[in-house]
Amino acid sequence: MTLMMASRMVAARSFGVVSHLSSMQSPTPLSVRQLSMDAKGFASRLVDAGLLRSQALIGGKWSDAYDGKTIEVHNPATGDVITTVPCMGQNETNDAISAAYNAFSSWSKVTSVERSKCLRKWYDLLISHKEELGQLITLEQGKPLQEAMGEVTYGAGFIEFFAEEAKRVYGDIIPSPLADRRLLVLKQPVGVVGAITPWNFPLAMITRKVGPALACGCTVVIKPSELTPLTALAAAELALQAGIPPGVVNVVMGNASAIGDALLASPQVRKITFTGSTAVGKKLMAGAAGTVKKVSLELGGNAPCIVFDDADLDVAVKGTLGAKFRNTGQTCVCANRIMVQEGIYEKFVDAFSKAVQKFQVGHGFSEGVTQGPLINEAAVQKVESFVKDATSKGAKVVLGAKRHSLGMTFYEPTVLSDVKSDMIIAREEVFGPVAPVLRFKTEDDALRMANDTNAGLAAYIFTNSVQRSWRVAEALEYGLVGVNEGLISTEVAPFGGVKQSGLGREGSKYGMDEYLEIKYVCLGNMNSK
Ligand code: ADP
Repeated sequence: MTLMMASRMVAARSFGVVSHLSSMQSPTPLSVRQLSMDAKGFASRLVDAGLLRSQALIGGKWSDAYDGKTIEVHNPATGDVITTVPCMGQNETNDAISAAYNAFSSWSKVTSVERSKCLRKWYDLLISHKEELGQLITLEQGKPLQEAMGEVTYGAGFIEFFAEEAKRVYGDIIPSPLADRRLLVLKQPVGVVGAITPWNFPLAMITRKVGPALACGCTVVIKPSELTPLTALAAAELALQAGIPPGVVNVVMGNASAIGDALLASPQVRKITFTGSTAVGKKLMAGAAGTVKKVSLELGGNAPCIVFDDADLDVAVKGTLGAKFRNTGQTCVCANRIMVQEGIYEKFVDAFSKAVQKFQVGHGFSEGVTQGPLINEAAVQKVESFVKDATSKGAKVVLGAKRHSLGMTFYEPTVLSDVKSDMIIAREEVFGPVAPVLRFKTEDDALRMANDTNAGLAAYIFTNSVQRSWRVAEALEYGLVGVNEGLISTEVAPFGGVKQSGLGREGSKYGMDEYLEIKYVCLGNMNSK
């Protein structure tokens, strides 16, 4: 079947069901209905480009669930069903694992130069389809199109970076303590990798794992979030087009715990890499013990963003806006507690709120929009409950603190002042467009407040003192620290947390180690001729 014919079949399946709005929700406002028509235009263009895939990928073959079950994928801005994807479980996952296991024996033996070329080709295809992939991300995840295209550049960057790193998996030679021996260290791929990813970066969270895995010679079974599987499938389609052999990249989705359990139970899966909630991460870590797998976890944060009296106000406001409101506050490195020293507190809240007021909330495809919808109703309800707890305990609403008039899952960009450390919003990730501003007196107070959490992913500080930058960056119990900068993620630097925010690092040369085993080889009897 030609690609075009396959695409047409997908098209026929894609638009059967139009809306999933339940009677509990308010009727769709006219503007949102209009936008849903635009979204359909984007969807049909994606079909024409062969990038709206609605089947899983097992061993190079596009596959339905064995029992034919499906799940709907929704546009969070409108509630419309974009398409359905297979609702898979243990059987399909086991077949995907077998396909990855079989492919491993050949992919791991392909030269690093060849693997590098395949990855480079994949990168080129991701970039040449940047617009379509960006549209797909906006369609299923909701982020504004410009930001979605930024994710494609960022996400593809991991494939480019690891295409280069593929050629640099060096071993070692150790000076031998015995004259007749030679001691070598080889680095070899761990084997089949189970990669479980969340919905907030439908592309980048996958490429960040799959790039280094493939570069090292591993093969993968990807389980994207059921909320955003379409970008993963489009990326997998492009991987096939790039000449990455069948079975090297597999994608299954459906029943998350059944798929997760199958990955954990299989002795053929040698590594689990996960980005998502701390609760699920802990379950996976415990489950991996049964077969002693390697585990990398990138879990929740509770990022402090500390603005000292000696900060440049404009720099602090700009940096905090980026750190807080990127992806409508839905990232694990989003500033969760904005801690401002008392001398600059009022000025900061004033300037920051004025900037937040200028944000344009709306459908991600609309020109000028900077804040999209939240991913689903549960996310809005969580935000509402955190805001209610804070205001009931004395936090003041400077801006927002309510659902947006667009309806659906749109929430107004919100600034709360007089927030205290014991409020839920300062203890747990709000994962939404709410900026809680706390007050502190001294640097010691700030450090105590910042480190008083089980999380340890990202932290941000704003100060014009070089000495303070070093001192505070060193004292923060976090894996990532931004100094006078709110956007710090890049494929060339190591990303990951300490404490209960996770294990391992992604991106950079350190990201390769997660997919490699060290093997020591001792050559004996080396003096004989
Ligand atoms: P979030 O709250 O960000 O959605 P989750 O941890 O629930 O975070 O989800 C992240 C990923 O983990 C998703 O792909 C989800 O389907 C998957 N997931 C959730 N529960 C399990 C589980 N028990 N086993 C394996 N994967 C799971």
